Parts: sequence; structure tokens; C-alpha cells
Amino acid sequence: MQTNISKPQVLVDPAHDRAVGVSFRRAGRDYDVLASKEVIVSAGVVESPKLLMLSGIGPADELRRLGLSTCLKGATESKRTKLFDDDAQWTSSPSNFALTSNYALTSSQIHVSKDLPGVGKNMRSHVGAGGIYFTTSQPVGMSLFRDLTIRSLASYAFRGGGQLNSPGGLEGIAFISSNYSTDPTWPDVEILFGSTHIASDGGLVYRRLLNLTEEVWETYRDLRWRDGFMMLPFPTRPKSRGQIRLRSANPEEDPEIIGNYFKHPEDMQITVDAIKFLMKIAETPAMKEVGAELYAHTLPGCEQHTRFSDAYWECHTRHFTYLHWHDSSTCQMGPEYNPETVVDSRLRVHGINSLRVADASIMPEIVSGDTQAACIMIGEKAASMIKEDHQLLTARSRLLRI
Ligand SMILES: Cc1cc2nc3c(=O)[nH]c(=O)nc-3n(C[C@H](O)[C@H](O)[C@H](O)COP(=O)(O)OP(=O)(O)OC[C@H]3O[C@@H](n4cnc5c(N)ncnc54)[C@H](O)[C@@H]3O)c2cc1C
Repeated sequence: MQTNISKPQVLVDPAHDRAVGVSFRRAGRDYDVLASKEVIVSAGVVESPKLLMLSGIGPADELRRLGLSTCLKGATESKRTKLFDDDAQWTSSPSNFALTSNYALTSSQIHVSKDLPGVGKNMRSHVGAGGIYFTTSQPVGMSLFRDLTIRSLASYAFRGGGQLNSPGGLEGIAFISSNYSTDPTWPDVEILFGSTHIASDGGLVYRRLLNLTEEVWETYRDLRWRDGFMMLPFPTRPKSRGQIRLRSANPEEDPEIIGNYFKHPEDMQITVDAIKFLMKIAETPAMKEVGAELYAHTLPGCEQHTRFSDAYWECHTRHFTYLHWHDSSTCQMGPEYNPETVVDSRLRVHGINSLRVADASIMPEIVSGDTQAACIMIGEKAASMIKEDHQLLTARSRLLRI
């Protein structure tokens, strides 16, 4: 385990299209660590494609755009010898390699080992509308004054229970099918229900987390400390596609995250329909019993629209976009003949031997719910497949599989 490293790269043997290890810098020294079996990239939706691209695996056009030299398969011998101090070693078996720093590339170089146009593309993200809050006449929401007591603190400290055990006031999740859903048994909208709102804490924390401007916060001032709740709707299978793109060949530079949220009109239509569904929820007898009412205000920037019309809600969503940090598919799984895909069904990178990706980036389609559990499953499945491929399964696990 090496922590506090910089400039990570996957080392690719261009003669054999094979990942042979990783290089990185630590405490001012460059290291190459050679893999005895294979290299597994598991750095998440942003960093995994970045790492692949910095290692020369990605859209060749993009990498060339950064002014990078290329060493595609079929490049001449002389080109390769220019890249590495001792080319002969690359043709020998990686297991014969000793630790060496001969192969470290400088930060301004990337040599394209594999043209994989899908790396960094096709990002799916769960984004929807925020800023839609409801007040209640009954004290049913979470309130800092009411809920932060000696008793609730003790209950949380000693039993891990009570109101403070609530995950950020998130009390419920609904899955519904929009008019655009092709299969009513496979909902395409998720609604998070929270028993707090932007001003439940009087503006102390939550509004700062959301980075609300003073102008927008002003319109929520009347909500301060009041009882209420929020509902956050978002399409679970968005059609818009984002992208992770290198800004330069410098590994220290963060990549561009191009969200393209709501670029596909259907994503917005589904969100607007879902917002209108929230209004119906607020009108149900159960909600009326607690005196639920929409906190009606006009979001700055949307004054030109008739309040609560479709156009208004679209404007509201574009101004108060709520990211759920569920991103996926920047190294998506699929058959090699599809240029948009990056890994096969065993998570192996197309065209590069001994290299796998195992994280949310491999999802061929974003899951229709929160992503964490699926990521754990991807890790578990990856571990099983790696053991299987290297005949590392124990007798017990083989038996369990039967
Ligand atoms: C604020 C927030 C709230 C969320 N809430 C929920 C929720 O309530 N429910 C839910 O289901 N999901 C939630 N998610 C989404 C969920 O956390 C992610 O989908 C999931 O963690 C992704 O798993 P992963 O393995 O792909 O990547 P990650 O969990 O991001 O793991 C990647 C790891 O790689 C490390 N790494 C990156 N680059 C390098 C490098 N160069 N060298 C070494 N290590 C590196 C990172 O530090 C990180 O630890 C939330 C996400 C965020 C950000």
C-alpha cells in the first residue's frame, strides 16, 4: 500500500499491448512497480478515465489534441526505443522485471497505447431539481431546537438511536414511473423525501453546503426555522451524457467534468413532470393532515415565467439543479466492436492485456437508484473474477459457487 503518491500512470508494454505495472512519484522519487499478474484501476468515475488517458489509453484524437506524441500499435521500433531507455526489457516477461524507474514518462508526455474513444465519455449522472420545499402546520419535521436536546444526544451517543440517527433527515425514498417510462415495473424517477429543508437550520449550514448565493437565499428567508420538508426528484436513467476530459498531460491537473446535465430534452420533461407529481403528493389527505403547503416563492432568474408553469419549473430546475453525486459509465462495459465501450464483461480493458477497471465507471447504464450498493457489488464481482481467472479460488469458495 502506497499513500501520498502523485503522477500515477499505468505502464503499458506497447509491443504486447499489455499493462505491466504502474508508475508514480512519492517523496520526490519516481517508482515503477511491476505487476506479477495484472493491474486493476479502481479510482472512480472521474479518476479512472483520467488515469487511463494519462497512460495513453483513450480517445487518440483527444490525446493528440493535447499535443501528445503517439505510439499506436504498429509504431516503428525506433519510436518505441525513443520512449523507453531499454526497449529490450519490454519484450521479456514482466515477472522478470526488477523495480526500476527507467520507464517513468515526464509529465508532459503521453504516448497513445490504445485508441479507445469511449474512455471518459458517456457519463451518466443523477441530477434533478432542488429548492422545492413545503411547510407544515404540525411539528413533524426535524428541527434543530426541538431535536437537539440532552436526551437526543444521549440516545444517539449510548444507543445510536433517536432523531439524530436520521441520515440527514432523509426519511423516505419513492420510485415512480413517468409518462416516458417504457416499462411501468421499472420506475424511471426517484424522489428523496427529507424532513428538513434549506432553512430548517436558520441558514447556518445547509445553504452553505449548497453554495446558495445571497440573492437566492433571500427568497428562502421566510422559511427560517419553520417546520417543513423537501422532496428531491430526479430521472434515474437520464439520456444526457457527460464527459471527463483531460485539460493537459499534466497528471497534477484536475480533468474537466462536462456534466451536460439536461442536454437531452427528455430528462428535463421527466423532471418537470416529477415536480408536478410532488404537488399531488402534497395534496394527499395524509399531507393535508399535517398542514403541508408548498413554500411559494419565485426563484431569481425565473421571474419571466408564469409561476409553477412547466416553463417556470424548467427554469427553476436549471437554476437550482441538484446533483446527487451518483455518476457512472465513463469506462462503460460492452462488446469490443462498440467503440463507446471500454471494458468487457470481465472488466478487462479492450485491447490491453492484464488491465481491468472496477468501479462505478464500468456501469453500462446507471443503476435506477443510489449507486453505492452497486459499486460494492462491482468490487465483489471483480474480486471473484480475478481469483477465478488466476485460479486463486479456494476449495471452499469453489464449493460455495456450486
Ligand atoms: C457527497 C456524496 C454523497 C453520496 N451519497 C450517496 C448515498 O447516499 N447513497 C449512495 O448509494 N451513493 C451515494 N453516493 C455515491 C457513491 O458514494 C458512489 O457512487 C460510490 O462511492 C462510487 O464508488 P467507486 O468505487 O466508483 O468510487 P469511489 O468511492 O470514489 O472510490 C474511488 C477511490 O479511489 C481513490 N483514488 C482516486 N484516484 C486515486 C489515485 N490516483 N491513487 C489512489 N487512489 C485514488 C479515491 O480517493 C477513492 O477512495 C454519494 C457520493 C458523494 C460524493
